Amino acid sequence: MLTSGWKAVSMVDVHGKVTFTLWLCGCNLKCPFCHNWRIAERRECFELPRDAMLEELSSHSFLIDYFHVTGGEPLMYHTDKTFYEVVEWLIEEGVQITFETNGTIEINFKLYPAYRSCIFALSLKLTNSGEPSQKRIVPQALKNLQSYSKETFLKFTIDKKLVETTALSEINEIREILPKLEVFCMPVGESRDTIWKNDRAVFEFCMKHNFRYSDRLHIRVFDTTQGV
Ligand code: SF4
Repeated sequence: MLTSGWKAVSMVDVHGKVTFTLWLCGCNLKCPFCHNWRIAERRECFELPRDAMLEELSSHSFLIDYFHVTGGEPLMYHTDKTFYEVVEWLIEEGVQITFETNGTIEINFKLYPAYRSCIFALSLKLTNSGEPSQKRIVPQALKNLQSYSKETFLKFTIDKKLVETTALSEINEIREILPKLEVFCMPVGESRDTIWKNDRAVFEFCMKHNFRYSDRLHIRVFDTTQGV
């Protein structure tokens, strides 16, 4: 299991919460706006030193609200024996786990029941990802996540151009598969410069359609620095 590292105390990955954030490397999609493209392309990654990570997690556990797993696409590792043992152990210890996933990987919740206790941010990709719809929208994977996990919500990364064209129809199409989930939209922006070009249009889009606006605080603060 490849990681680019972890951050013991992060205040920018889950809004209003303190997380211990782990980045897992590799992704099954290739979005042009990917902020963590080096991680997605497995550059500068190394085998996860599980014991060292858990030791650091234990020493910070009194501070954190969530163990947050992101990437890349972290669910590529969901059947990995070591990773699943870590998930099981964290749940036994009472640690809440959140995943940031592109929602394309189907979890067998009968074989891997620990994921029933996890929260999934479904960061689904739209046409601006350049990926074909059958690759980025996998209905059965989404239905399983909605039905069997502890909590799920939808998160879309959109830009001004998509707001002015197909964003609403694309989101509504996905909501036909997942009608119950709350929708968050964030502006495309792998750098401060690109956020400024999209944030207002996305904010107004959210106001108009009763979606939640989600900012990219880590990029406003750290710009193009990855793994923060
Ligand atoms: S799905 Fe996420 S991690 Fe993968 S390439 Fe797209 S933005 Fe990057």
